[in-house]
Amino acid sequence: GKRSEDAATPTTTLTYEDVGGLRNQVHRIREMIELPLRHPQIFERLGIDAPKGVLLHGPPGCGKTLIARIIAQESDANFFSVSGPEVVHKFYGESEAHLRKIFEEAARKGPSIIFMDEIDAIAPRRDKVVGDVEKRIVAQLLALMDGLTRRQNLIVIAATNLPNAIDPALRRPGRFDRELGIPIPDRDGRLEILEIHSRGMPLDDDVALPQLAEITHGFVGADLEALCREAAMSTLRRVLPDIGLSLDEMPIDRLAGATVGMDDFIT
Ligand code: ATP
Repeated sequence: GKRSEDAATPTTTLTYEDVGGLRNQVHRIREMIELPLRHPQIFERLGIDAPKGVLLHGPPGCGKTLIARIIAQESDANFFSVSGPEVVHKFYGESEAHLRKIFEEAARKGPSIIFMDEIDAIAPRRDKVVGDVEKRIVAQLLALMDGLTRRQNLIVIAATNLPNAIDPALRRPGRFDRELGIPIPDRDGRLEILEIHSRGMPLDDDVALPQLAEITHGFVGADLEALCREAAMSTLRRVLPDIGLSLDEMPIDRLAGATVGMDDFIT
């Protein structure tokens, strides 16, 4: 994207090549988001409205945030990130004003994507016991969604692990009326994710990623990323066990020929 709005955003450029598995999901989300952002006239020509809101749901660590960021970059859109719990707690008392400000800025700078992580914190079902504060925040969010016009070229992506915990009013037409599940990866997905996260690592010939994919049932993308990182750290400890003695005297050249072996992955 042109630039990211939150300071915590890594500056590295990610592409669809950095998403493992999820081929169909990426395809659908590109159609729903990248296409209208880049070519709004296509939707006008067909006489349909581009989506205003898309709800991504699925377990933590499977790539919802990753995909949202990549879509923004690939669409050349500004990316605004909002965390549900943060809106409710950090901006306590100013939550609605905070939301209004983000929507205004995103609309002004379109094409834009607003990514709302953990939207269930902002918009829990209103029939559940929620306080007036939450009710007002949901009402504000709904009003902002309803106020979006086609010309603003702004799409809101919301993410949740608990799709049934959110206020059903959010899913009405013209709001978050498209949904996409981002599931736990299967074996092939795990293999692709392992390939992505070990791409830059000096792997030993004995490393069999398909075998690792086989035995990591239940691991999500974030787990597989951690597995690769831990394997590299295991190599480091094996080759340079003397860390802690003196960092100045570290024989770093010993790492030159070192490779990450299968044992480093399975310990
Ligand atoms: P949460 O609900 O906790 O926000 P999430 O679904 O948004 O979870 P991400 O934040 O996108 O998960 O994933 C965390 C990290 O795990 C990503 O930055 C990425 O490095 C890695 N990861 C997750 N899923 C994938 C994937 N499908 N392909 C490659 N890497 C992945």
